[in-house]
Amino acid sequence: MKDLVSKIVALAKRRGIVFQNSEIYGGVQGFYDYGPIGSLMKLNWKNLWWTDNVVNRADVVGIDGSIITHPTVWQASGHVKNFGDILVECKNCHKRFRPDLIDNAKKCPECGGQFTDARSYNILFKTEIGVIEGEKMRAYLRGEACQNIYLNFKNVVDSSRVKIPFGIAQIGKAFRNEITPKNFLYRTREFEQWDIQYFVEATQMDKWYDYWKQQRMDWYQGLFNSKADLRFRQHLKDELAFYAKKAFDIEYNAPWGWAEMEGIHWRADYDLTQHSKFSGKDLSYLDQTTNKKYIPHIVETSGGVDRSFFFLLLDAYQEQTMDNGETRIYLKINPKIAAYKVAVFPLASNKPELVDTASNIYQTLQKSFSVDFDDSSNIGKKYRRQDEIGTPWCLVVDFQTLDDQTVTLRHRDTTKQTRVKINSLSKWLTKNLSNF
Ligand code: ATP
Repeated sequence: MKDLVSKIVALAKRRGIVFQNSEIYGGVQGFYDYGPIGSLMKLNWKNLWWTDNVVNRADVVGIDGSIITHPTVWQASGHVKNFGDILVECKNCHKRFRPDLIDNAKKCPECGGQFTDARSYNILFKTEIGVIEGEKMRAYLRGEACQNIYLNFKNVVDSSRVKIPFGIAQIGKAFRNEITPKNFLYRTREFEQWDIQYFVEATQMDKWYDYWKQQRMDWYQGLFNSKADLRFRQHLKDELAFYAKKAFDIEYNAPWGWAEMEGIHWRADYDLTQHSKFSGKDLSYLDQTTNKKYIPHIVETSGGVDRSFFFLLLDAYQEQTMDNGETRIYLKINPKIAAYKVAVFPLASNKPELVDTASNIYQTLQKSFSVDFDDSSNIGKKYRRQDEIGTPWCLVVDFQTLDDQTVTLRHRDTTKQTRVKINSLSKWLTKNLSNF
């Protein structure tokens, strides 16, 4: 599907998943807002990551760091000097391009003009701390979320009972003044990252690197429909940071080609050593059993929340031709991520006995599930809406309900319907959501 991206963008707007930021002012490139449905889905996506990587693991703890840090952090990390894109500029239309993203073309792909020599542009967002002229301090919005983890390494060791090997995880915003934001949520200027920094003893790096590489791939494969659209890409020697023995990306087979979703990085002792140097504080770890003191080495898994969410939507989008020739669009998304687990409708909106019964069911189910209620008039439209936001089950109260206390439940992917007793609904849904 060549125009799949535009279909997703249209669906996201139509159904309140994602909107262009500041749309009424013509929009601003590289910024997006999540709508009523999208904010629920994104929260579910993040909660799933947090539950699997922090809550359900004894060896990983979480933090929630601030977006602005001491500016020296970005000197120590190398971002002030090196965080940029190498770009060429067209002498004619003045558009700038990253040579590798235009197949190292010699002429401008937009107008055929000549290029300038390549130059480096820093993509850290600058800001100022303080309001009094002359006393303001230059600061940066964090270009990657993980720096807060290194900054708090000692605080976490001193305040909790973690022992190496252990991880610190965080979900948080990062900002990059990307020169060419594009492909919807894929390359934006404000986005969220989910990171795990796993601290180990140097000799254990290979073992933990392989563990996390596989662990992260298994996690994504368990949640995407098409496992064949996920792969590893190993970084070439000349792409590697000087301290990295190896690096792999988990890539998704996007409509424009294979694209990075998450990086599994060998960061060695680089980050803690740099921050020790720049801060003058000792960031080493004392192993209480061996009495050995050392700077831990780090395996990092760093993924984009919005980027992977977009890939999830691409993976979930389905079009089905119905018997009547119409096309049904539905999102085949894991129920754990769907905004609503079930949508409750009365068959007819002008029959108070149906509306009241549906409303009672809605109120009961809402105590245990995320449920939508829709008593608008057209049942076809109601199904279409829920299909397009990926609601696994639609529950309809009809005239038979009034006789035998059963309702119909319609499966999102097959559209097959079954009748279920009202008093066993909670149990039935719990079972059928986990087996979906
Ligand atoms: P890219 O090569 O695509 O610019 P990167 O290698 O610079 O990405 P990292 O610094 O490793 O990315 O960041 C970790 C993750 O954060 C990426 O795998 C991606 O999912 C996400 N990410 C990075 N930049 C952006 C962006 N501009 N918009 C959305 N997500 C991003």
